[in-house]
Amino acid sequence: MRHDIKIKYYPIVIFFVILSFVFVVIHLEYKKYAWYYISAYCACKECCEGYADGITASGYVLTETSKVCAAPKNIPFGTRFDIPHYGIATVEDRGKAITGDRLDIYFSDHDKAIEWGVKKLHVKRLN
Ligand SMILES: [Zn+2]
Repeated sequence: MRHDIKIKYYPIVIFFVILSFVFVVIHLEYKKYAWYYISAYCACKECCEGYADGITASGYVLTETSKVCAAPKNIPFGTRFDIPHYGIATVEDRGKAITGDRLDIYFSDHDKAIEWGVKKLHVKRLN
């Protein structure tokens, strides 16, 4: 008789197993997102103070088309973020003021960096 009960509840068990799996997937996907304050900089003396040599903290040489950002020290070089209105930025730089929930994105043009200002955005970490 106990065997019959098991068979009866089998679909319900399967349903809840699938449901928890779906929740795990949603949770893992949602975990990739975080709110960041995104500021912008270029390679000029004004933006970089003493380090305006066009080379990032990781040794990356900046070009006009570079999509890179500075991130806090707990985020390793090579980490990629999908930043709305900017694109996919790779962490190649550090900055004194870049701590906590801040990222600093690179523009080849100083005016574009100023125009960006600081935006609070929901950012997806890709790796
Ligand atoms: Zn600048």
